[in-house]
Amino acid sequence: MELPPALLQSLQNVKGFNQEAFIQVHQSGQQITSIRLNPEKLKIQNLKFKTEGHVLWSSLGYYLPSRPSFTLDPLFHAGAYYVQEASSMFLEEVIKQKVDLSKPLKILDLCAAPGGKSTLIQSIISKESLLVSNEVIKTRVNILSENITKWGAANVIVTNNDPKDFEKLKNYFDVIVVDAPCSGSGLFKKDPNAIGEWSQANVALCAQRQQRILADILPSLKAGGCLFYSTCSFSPQEDEDVLDWLMHEFYTDDKIATMESLRFMLEVDWGIVETVSDKTNAYGYRFYPGKVKGEGFFIAGFKKADVEDGGSQTAHRNKKIKKTFEKLSNTQIQIVQPYLLHANDFFFIKQNEDVMAIPMQLEKELETLQHILYIKKAGVKLGTIIRNELVPAHELAVSNIINTNVNRCEVDLENALQYLRKQELKIECPYNGWVILTYKNLPLGWIKVIGNRINNYYPSAWRILNK
Ligand code: SAM
Repeated sequence: MELPPALLQSLQNVKGFNQEAFIQVHQSGQQITSIRLNPEKLKIQNLKFKTEGHVLWSSLGYYLPSRPSFTLDPLFHAGAYYVQEASSMFLEEVIKQKVDLSKPLKILDLCAAPGGKSTLIQSIISKESLLVSNEVIKTRVNILSENITKWGAANVIVTNNDPKDFEKLKNYFDVIVVDAPCSGSGLFKKDPNAIGEWSQANVALCAQRQQRILADILPSLKAGGCLFYSTCSFSPQEDEDVLDWLMHEFYTDDKIATMESLRFMLEVDWGIVETVSDKTNAYGYRFYPGKVKGEGFFIAGFKKADVEDGGSQTAHRNKKIKKTFEKLSNTQIQIVQPYLLHANDFFFIKQNEDVMAIPMQLEKELETLQHILYIKKAGVKLGTIIRNELVPAHELAVSNIINTNVNRCEVDLENALQYLRKQELKIECPYNGWVILTYKNLPLGWIKVIGNRINNYYPSAWRILNK
């Protein structure tokens, strides 16, 4: 593996960079696998794999001694854990250090697909909080929605918007996470093929894009709110230089800087390197493979100053917003309620023929957001009401809001995989009608039992294709 000389050159004076060690770790072929548990679904003792210690900066992250076939583990499909690179799990630590998570918060994960950071954020915020998980690229929103669905939480809204679209939500979010598209050098060790695509010109292009994204999104951060910016690039142009740009760019009319750089506490044994940017002394945190047990990563945090910017009254608050979503009738509510664990905590809306359950406290937010953003998914889709019965949706089966008294049928590994391949099932099930199939007590999806026949309702698009 030959690393781009121009990349090595650009890192010569960067704190923590040691060329020899850097090249050596990239040539070692050493691979690190880590997962993060879904606290709503899985306890570590129920995990099938052997783990190899905790990710030091994450309460739910674990290393595995080797990479198993996640595809052939039904718990993976049940959303019991997320396969995530260890360094990026540091987002948990920085949010916990700087944000009061006991409050109901509105959080935006702006560049969210495929959902690693969003599922992490969802696991650490309160049930009363809202996570808006956004992805601009249309073709990547499906995988984001799928991962959010498997995670099972109801307090997430998935959107498909350009950062510029958020301008109308002035001073709206308490926290914004920008895990920016970047030149990707931090992942060279994991994926040496990416080296061929690296160029200095692309680094420059990425840096410009990162600045544009930040400029577009900052108006929607509340005064006093926190911004977390990260990349998986080693290039200072995309890291410290972007911090300098951000600190420089945003001033009030009185020339007061609106962004305050945040400093994080580090444990020495984490191996994370703190840097300060050249011009404005903004703090950045570098993850060098070899120094940390993880891939290349960079993160920094900012607080938006509590200064008058003349426009703190948000457009959406001044307008009387007309509700446009259709609510369910009382009869329809009575049909869906028995499927939910705490039905009174939700309000129900109809979108085309689908019924969705949204946490009660998010009603106002959904009203606001639906006028401004393209909402791909909100809350949990319960299904469709046909002839006074609910035809349940897959989302409901794998959600954390489903009533535990809905009929369930536990299967072994072989039958779980048969189900996930959407093949015929030959199992004994004592119930008739809609039944949830579980593996190690975690829902995989619906089957419908009609006499001796069992219909497999696993979503076709998600079925396992390999043998
Ligand atoms: N946060 C994700 C996770 O942890 O799973 C990874 C995000 S990836 C580093 C960057 C994302 O930004 C990609 O999904 C990409 O499609 C999206 N993106 C690309 N161009 C963008 C733009 N101009 N504005 C916002 N997001 C963009």
